[in-house]
Amino acid sequence: MIKNKKAFSYLPLIALILVIIFIIGLVAVPKFKSSVFHSKVTGNAYLLPPPSKEESKNPIGVAITSPPSKAYKFLQIGIDGSPIRYDPCRPVHYVVNPLNSPAFGDRIVKEAIAEVSRYSGLQFIYDGPTKELYTTDRQAYQPLVYGKRWAPVLITWSTAKQRPELIADGAGKVLGEGGSVSFALENSPTIYVSGRLDIEIENLASVVKESDGDVRVKAIILHELGHLLGLDHPDDPWQIMFPEASMQVTDFNIGDKAGLAELGRGPCNPKI
Ligand SMILES: [Zn+2]
Repeated sequence: MIKNKKAFSYLPLIALILVIIFIIGLVAVPKFKSSVFHSKVTGNAYLLPPPSKEESKNPIGVAITSPPSKAYKFLQIGIDGSPIRYDPCRPVHYVVNPLNSPAFGDRIVKEAIAEVSRYSGLQFIYDGPTKELYTTDRQAYQPLVYGKRWAPVLITWSTAKQRPELIADGAGKVLGEGGSVSFALENSPTIYVSGRLDIEIENLASVVKESDGDVRVKAIILHELGHLLGLDHPDDPWQIMFPEASMQVTDFNIGDKAGLAELGRGPCNPKI
């Protein structure tokens, strides 16, 4: 999954995880089935924002203490052996495009963000609604839209019309997608600088109508936020990051929490 570090120097790398859930009847539980792909987004040095003015000397948040667990995996490991993470010494900004959002969408996004913040210690700032749509080639730096800083994480609710590539192919329906863009300068750690999270709400139309629809859609957001921060699929079926999660697992479990805590312990990186 990890390419040559040198290739990262001026090439943000975006990691995306597709989550596919099979709806196989009322008795059987929906399954996550995943595939992973990485596509490079090219960038040039002159398109970099200046170093963040929000950078503190120390992490600005602390994860709540979680029991130790090894039931987690990281999406990307840097050449120093540590996972690629967001900088804990500055806030992670995010925007939400409310287009196609279910009635409970705003609430469950805020709840899910609060949960990943609690278990990772990373601090999030909501920059408000946006009209930006999900695109697979989204640029991590959009100064005309968001100013001279890394673009905030984009959260969207897409339909099949917007993203026809996500229509069921007979095997299942894609329900969510999440990933982050990493960046590194020479002699500095690779960190995540921006990302995107998309919920394919049209493929969840029947779930939204259920009495526990908010909990089940929120579970997908939690799973995708886990990818956004750097978690991969573990082998333990009781973790929300497991690729074949059951309906009984709708919240972070012990391994997810331990992984998120590790992802909140990245290095400060004032140069980027
Ligand atoms: Zn996944």
